[in-house]
Amino acid sequence: MTLIDRFGRPITYLRISVTDRCNLRCVYCLPEEGIEWLPRENQLSAEEIARVVEAAAQGGVRRVRLTGGEPLVRPDIVEIVARLASISGIEEVSLTTNAMLLERLAHPLADAGLKRVNISLDTLDEDKFMRITRGGSIQHLWNGIAAAEAAGLTPIKLNTVVVNGLNADEILELALMTIENAWHLRFIELMPVGNAQNWGEGFPVLSDRYISVHEMQEWLSSFSLQPETAPTGNGPARTFRIPGALGTVGFISPLGEHFCQNCNRLRLTADGCLRPCLLLDGEINVRNALRAGEPILPLLQNAVDSKPEGHELFLQHYPESRRMAQIGG
Ligand code: SAM
Repeated sequence: MTLIDRFGRPITYLRISVTDRCNLRCVYCLPEEGIEWLPRENQLSAEEIARVVEAAAQGGVRRVRLTGGEPLVRPDIVEIVARLASISGIEEVSLTTNAMLLERLAHPLADAGLKRVNISLDTLDEDKFMRITRGGSIQHLWNGIAAAEAAGLTPIKLNTVVVNGLNADEILELALMTIENAWHLRFIELMPVGNAQNWGEGFPVLSDRYISVHEMQEWLSSFSLQPETAPTGNGPARTFRIPGALGTVGFISPLGEHFCQNCNRLRLTADGCLRPCLLLDGEINVRNALRAGEPILPLLQNAVDSKPEGHELFLQHYPESRRMAQIGG
């Protein structure tokens, strides 16, 4: 059986937020004081997550990405990966992380069946890294990347959210890293998800922050970027290579370019709600069904049936019910 939505899109990819908790407070993602975390009892257990993925695999889902919050702060993250990787039909389990805890966990995760990691890297400057993440250490990130490479969690993808007045001046330098490193760097447009507030002293105000991928590409025009076939799992990124480079540079444009027509994903929040679209509110609770021992596949079908044709940011319909860390960016 294949889960297919009303617009003919097969749903083969599930993104799972395993926790809303995070060990960083990136300015565009979380407020400095944090948010009220989910009550522990509402968070799905490893076994409950596995039951959703088993049903999803029966419905044709083949790839799963774990995210959050920060997935590596979950004490049972290795167990979660092991459970999901052993589910029949699941071809790939990958994970998005800030890498603060990756040095220690890369090998256990790889042994448990994790295939790849995406790592968030918004700046190459140590002090700015600490300011953007409100306390993160770029050295931990480099150590995490080295450990991930040693454990075979490759190819490494790096996600950079580009913000005017914050890190847009670094995109040339960031792109240059791909010449000697086989990393897939993706520049991402800032999405308006719960981050309209003031980010604090020295950070750009709301009206100045957004920069489109078109502008980013123009800034990189001196590199004569060559279009590339996207590496596996590059999702909506348009991918290019600096001639002769080992890695690639991609651009993800949730706002400037509409890529919803190719969307193949569903999301599962840490408290067990299926979310058909990152950027539109609307969810289906599976936690209650899980805890009542009811079948999950019909709820997956309902979520797929309610998947909108596309987000409606251009109509100023912004997601308001949750922050990015709660949905699983
Ligand atoms: N903690 C992990 C991490 O830092 O990668 C996983 C969760 S984080 C919410 C997932 C991704 O969402 C990160 O790459 C982050 O940069 C991105 N993100 C968060 N808020 C965003 C926003 N408003 N616009 C675009 N990307 C965003």
